[in-house]
Amino acid sequence: QKGKYPERLAFYNMGLERDLHRKITLNEALKGALERNEFRLMYQPIVDATGQVVSFEALMRWRYQEKEISPVEFIPLMEQSGRIVQTGHWVLEEACKTLAQMNKHNAGICMCVNISLIQFYDKGFVNNVNRLIERYAIPGHLLHLEVTESIFQSDQMMINQKVSQLQQRGVKFSVDDFGTGYSSLSVIQNMNIDYIKIDRSFIQNIELKGLSIVQAMMNISRSLNFSVIAEGVETDKQRQLLEECGIPFMQGYYFSRPLERQNALVYLDQALES
Ligand code: C2E
Ligand code: CA
Ligand code: CA
Ligand code: CA
Repeated sequence: QKGKYPERLAFYNMGLERDLHRKITLNEALKGALERNEFRLMYQPIVDATGQVVSFEALMRWRYQEKEISPVEFIPLMEQSGRIVQTGHWVLEEACKTLAQMNKHNAGICMCVNISLIQFYDKGFVNNVNRLIERYAIPGHLLHLEVTESIFQSDQMMINQKVSQLQQRGVKFSVDDFGTGYSSLSVIQNMNIDYIKIDRSFIQNIELKGLSIVQAMMNISRSLNFSVIAEGVETDKQRQLLEECGIPFMQGYYFSRPLERQNALVYLDQALES
C-alpha cells in the first residue's frame, strides 16, 4: 500500500513533464510561425432566423509539422508570450480583407473576429483597428469584435474607453462564451454590449436544463437591449428549440463547419443568388 505512492507520483510527474515539453516545443515553433505563413483563417457562417447567412466568424488555424494544432492549445501560449499582439493584428487584417471582398456588392455581410485581452492592453490597438477599417474601406458596423467576459474583470476604465472609442466608429462588440465566466450579469449591465454569444455547452444541453437558461438569457437580452447568437448548434432539434425561444442568430455544424476562405466566398455567392 505504502509503496504505491511514489510510483503514482512518478507517473504524475511524467505526465507533467510531457505537457511541459510539448509547451516548450510549441512555443519555440510559434516564434517564426507568422513569418513562415503557417497560420490561416477559416470562416464559419452565422445565420439569422430565416436561415439566411448574415455574418462569418474568423477562426485561426495553425499548420505545424503537417498537423493542425487547435487554437485552444496555441492561443494561450501566444497570450503568455505576448505574440498574440502581432498575430492578432494579422488576424484582423486577413479578416478585413475577406470582409471587404465579401461586401464588394454591398451585401452587408459582417465579420466576427476573436480578440484576446492582451490585444486590448496594446497601446496601438484602437488605432490599428481604425487604420484597417480605412485601408479596406469597411463600414465600421460590419466589423464585430468578440471578447470574453474575463476582459471586463481587468482594467475597467481602460477597457471601457477603448470599447467606446471603437463603438463610435460603428464597430460592434460581442461577449463570447457567455455564461461560462464569473461576471456575466454585471458585465452586461455595466457595458454597452451589442451581442452575447451563448456558449455551446448550454446549446448541447438544451433538451435538458439548457432550455430554461437560454430562455432566461433571451429575457435579459430583451430588457437590456442587446442581441443574441447561439453557437455550436449541431442538430435540427436544437435549432427548433432555439427558434421557439426567439433566438435571432445561430452558428454551428448544423448550418456549416468553418470553411476555407475560397469556399466561404463561394458559399456566400450561392446564398446570395438563392
Ligand atoms: P470560440 O470563439 O468559442 O469559437 C467557436 C469554436 O467552436 C470554434 O472552434 C468552432 O470551430 C467550434 N464550433 C463551431 N460550431 C460548432 C458545432 O456545432 N459543434 C462543435 N462541437 N464545435 C463547433 P475552434 O475553431 O477550434 O476555436 C476554438 C477557440 O479558439 C475559439 O472558441 C476562440 O476562443 C479561439 N480562437 C480561434 N481563433 C482565434 C483568434 O483568431 N484569436 C483569438 N484570440 N482566439 C481565437
Ligand atoms: Ca468566438
Ligand atoms: Ca464563442
Ligand atoms: Ca465557445
